[in-house]
Amino acid sequence: MNIITIKNYINGTLVMPTSGQYLDVYNPATGAVYAKAPDSDAHDVQLATEAAQQAFPVWSKMSAEKRSKLLLKIADGITANFEKLALAESIDNGKPLSLARTVDIPRSASNFYFYATAVMHHASESHFMEEGAINYTLRRPIGVVGCISPWNLPLYLFTWKIAPALAAGNCVVAKPSEITPMTAYLLSEICIEAGLPPGVLNIVHGLGGKVGQAITEHPSIPVISFTGGTSTGAHIASTAAPKFKKLSLELGGKNPAIIFADCNYETMLKTVARSSFSNQGQICLCGSRIFVERPLYEQFKADFVAEVNKLTVGDPLNEASNLGAVVSEAHLKKVLSYIELAKEEGGMILTGGKRIQVEGICKNGWFVQPTVIEGLPFDCRTNQEEIFGPVVSIMPFDTEEEVLRYANSTQYGLASSLWTENLSRANRMAEEIKTGIVWVNCWMLRDLRTPFGGMKNSGVGREGGWEAFRFFTEPKNVCVKYGT
Ligand code: NAP
Repeated sequence: MNIITIKNYINGTLVMPTSGQYLDVYNPATGAVYAKAPDSDAHDVQLATEAAQQAFPVWSKMSAEKRSKLLLKIADGITANFEKLALAESIDNGKPLSLARTVDIPRSASNFYFYATAVMHHASESHFMEEGAINYTLRRPIGVVGCISPWNLPLYLFTWKIAPALAAGNCVVAKPSEITPMTAYLLSEICIEAGLPPGVLNIVHGLGGKVGQAITEHPSIPVISFTGGTSTGAHIASTAAPKFKKLSLELGGKNPAIIFADCNYETMLKTVARSSFSNQGQICLCGSRIFVERPLYEQFKADFVAEVNKLTVGDPLNEASNLGAVVSEAHLKKVLSYIELAKEEGGMILTGGKRIQVEGICKNGWFVQPTVIEGLPFDCRTNQEEIFGPVVSIMPFDTEEEVLRYANSTQYGLASSLWTENLSRANRMAEEIKTGIVWVNCWMLRDLRTPFGGMKNSGVGREGGWEAFRFFTEPKNVCVKYGT
């Protein structure tokens, strides 16, 4: 097999890591190495930062219109390479090609379209004073910003940071997950093709402990936007906080789906199957704790298990596969260990619970059956810790107060979904539930203008819309007195 060699994108060119060292990149569906990614280090981060610093004066002062046009070209480049990117994402991550086509790649293009056009409409606040003065808020780009992203939605989350950072006039040093580096590499080719000036965006591939750490520590990178696990986020915060860096942390979740007996049953059933197992349960927004009002519980249990049993796990490139492989062997082991833990904690596996061997070229791939567990208390480890795989736990409840207590019991507070036709209850619950995103009678319905992020240990700050613009700019109050 022809092994693809990924390169860093520094100062407008594709370059080898200075160490000359590479990391293996695996295809999760076959378990085989199919590419090599740079094993970069602090020296590469230094080169990328210097390039970004040099590019900043011109990029930050470029008219919004010109910047917008360049970013639109990148968006068009993503669209033009749609099939190539979708295939690459599927091979790199193990996700079904159909999902990469319908979610990951369209959304990556949208991220660029959205922020490329937003910058044309950006306005900042002004405050009039009766004393004869006016304050205006001058929002200027900050400088070189660091963007670090995870493996679950590789290009989608990478562009969700980069697009607003660039649109606001910053230069970027970015690190995709070393587990899924391919589409970030293809994006660097698209940026070159689009004519993005050298140094405006730099992509340094490699390990979190080396490249990510070097970005976080670098004295000339005063802003870090990070998406990943809560413990990595805590580590980044402890490194960045004493340096007074601006931080956006989008972290883990353990999201509740709350189903009341009066819900629209058919829509709920189909959507909850999707919110449980989309991307093999490896979306930070997936609902892994499913609470069902007791009168509906037995019916839901039977129908949900039947629905889950219809899902096909298989070769991600096969149109018929609903679930592909989980991202790595280490992650496979983690997911399976949580299924074992669930059994030890008294859980009953209603369906799934095992690794699957898929016939043919995927026989060594990392596949797990979609798994539904019942009989676990809300406060056991299985129901409190993030598994981030195709594993959900179902539990009955009797009252609103009770289910709110269950839902709010974890350290996390990212997203929740509520299923009820009772509008008053939906709004009451939405106010009380401690998550940054509440979906009522839907899931993953995303409007890019809305604030995105979590409460508690799910993160600090919000992405999306003007929130991201505000994050990536430094506000300055200018007070002009014109009266005597
Ligand atoms: P992770 O292990 O925390 O890694 C995320 C990124 O941080 C990767 O690029 C990683 O590099 C890098 N990294 C690791 N150690 C670092 C360090 N010391 N300094 C700087 N960077 C470092 O998370 P993951 O396993 O890739 O992703 C899964 C997690 O992300 C889950 O917890 C999920 O809930 C969360 N997530 C949250 C959201 C959200 O919006 N809230 C969205 C998606 C995912 P390596 O790959 O080389 O380790």
